[in-house]
Amino acid sequence: AQEAAALRMRILHTNDHHSRIEPVMNGSTPLHGGVARRKTLIDQVRSSEALPLLLVDAGDVFQGTLFFNQYNGMADLEFYNAMGYEAMTIGNHEFDRGTTLLSDFIKRATFPVLSANIHVTAGSVLDGLYKPHVIVEKGGKKIGIFGVTAEDTGELANTGSEVQFTSVIAAAKEQVAALQAAGVFTIIALTHVGIDVDRQIAREVSGISLIIGGHSHTPMGPMSSSGNPPYPELIANPDGKPVVIVTDWEWGRWLGDLTLAFNQEGTIVDVQGHPTEVAPSIEADPSFEQRIQVLAAPLNLLRATVIGSSSVDLDGARANVRTRETNLGNLVADAMLLKTRNRGGQIAITNGGGIRASIPAGAISIGQVLEVLPFGNTLATVDISGAQVWAALENGVSQVESGAGRFPQIAGFSFTYDPTLPVGSRVTSVTYAGAAMDSAAIFRVVTNDFMLAGGDGFTSFAQGSNPLNTGLILADVVQEYISANSPITAVAEGRISVGLAV
Ligand code: ATP
Ligand code: ZN
Repeated sequence: AQEAAALRMRILHTNDHHSRIEPVMNGSTPLHGGVARRKTLIDQVRSSEALPLLLVDAGDVFQGTLFFNQYNGMADLEFYNAMGYEAMTIGNHEFDRGTTLLSDFIKRATFPVLSANIHVTAGSVLDGLYKPHVIVEKGGKKIGIFGVTAEDTGELANTGSEVQFTSVIAAAKEQVAALQAAGVFTIIALTHVGIDVDRQIAREVSGISLIIGGHSHTPMGPMSSSGNPPYPELIANPDGKPVVIVTDWEWGRWLGDLTLAFNQEGTIVDVQGHPTEVAPSIEADPSFEQRIQVLAAPLNLLRATVIGSSSVDLDGARANVRTRETNLGNLVADAMLLKTRNRGGQIAITNGGGIRASIPAGAISIGQVLEVLPFGNTLATVDISGAQVWAALENGVSQVESGAGRFPQIAGFSFTYDPTLPVGSRVTSVTYAGAAMDSAAIFRVVTNDFMLAGGDGFTSFAQGSNPLNTGLILADVVQEYISANSPITAVAEGRISVGLAV
């Protein structure tokens, strides 16, 4: 295969960086990751590799640490520009601060930002900024790279009506046709759709040689524990040709790394995967280190500012807040309800997916609260009927098996549901003020702005009356509540019960 190769090249890739500028920690020692060590690894490959090199990212650079709260993705971008990325796909979290911020990011990026299945209305700030694909030249050959983004991003993030997401498969087929018409040698899909959809693209769309993915945070090959899919994975396309699939887990813990050989037809005839752990033994790039220290200074202040304490561990674990009542879910919902009592707030419903970290017993800092509630959500109130509350709860428990973010954390009432019943009829009772909730009565619900806008499928809020975005920032409201109620003793007291039908 080696003699016959028309092109050999090396590809380095990452995805789901999620603002992990600093290393991922194990207690107080670095476990792995961090852009300073990633930079060293990339530079080593650049200086030692004779083959053409491509460096790409499959999306979700935004959201996940205090760096994102402070710098809205611009700190991450500074490092991405300096590492010499050549393309990136728009991930769902790239919409977390709205379209104007994403447009600033794309304008300042020294590399193209891609998605072929995102469509914006004419005159949108994003109009004309991102591209469906890019053609790069490697070893004298034109390589087509197109991007696609999770189809349900409109529901997963707050994208607003100016942005529409269309079929990933249809967009992939269109891009292959366009890139083939442009005479490219081979085609790479740079995707933020999750590995299952990557496999579907491989099986259903001809003309793609390599899929570099993100979104499902899937460790492959030697990354993390055993039982992973191999790195790389190979799938036959509709013509029986091999498609190589890779993804690089998350948070820059590892650096995805492939060496490929293509034949005259642009088909991959040899592939060697050698992803590297971004291990603490790798020397950190000194100029990156210096810059990180400067950028981290205001964050360290947030981390050091104690606002209260808890005598119990506050449970924000992803697997828990998305499947059951937790004491941290109760605390957040209680704070929301208390803050809106004087505006007529009667019950609170907030999405478990909006709670992104736990807080261990002990002192609580501003930084910790911001890590629990990083989205910058505001409190919103709306008047809906008891029947609509019921419908909202049905939506909330409709995907509990998959741990979707829509699971409700609540205050001011209680309910029982049976997860073995069909979706849409799982809620078996709703209790308000000690009695069955009156389905015709109107209740003022406090929720967050994301849900009021229909996020996580909560359509019943959009149907209510007197919708109001209070402008009160959820993280501030929770901080204030913790300060006033320390030491916190919140418990999961049975607001949400699972009652199996008999
Ligand atoms: P990925 O990096 O793969 O996108 P993720 O955890 O962000 O990971 P999901 O597990 O799909 O992706 O989580 C998305 C969930 O995050 C949504 O279902 C919702 O519950 C929550 N979420 C997203 N954006 C917001 C927001 N602006 N406000 C509140 N909650 C949000
Ligand atoms: Zn994602």
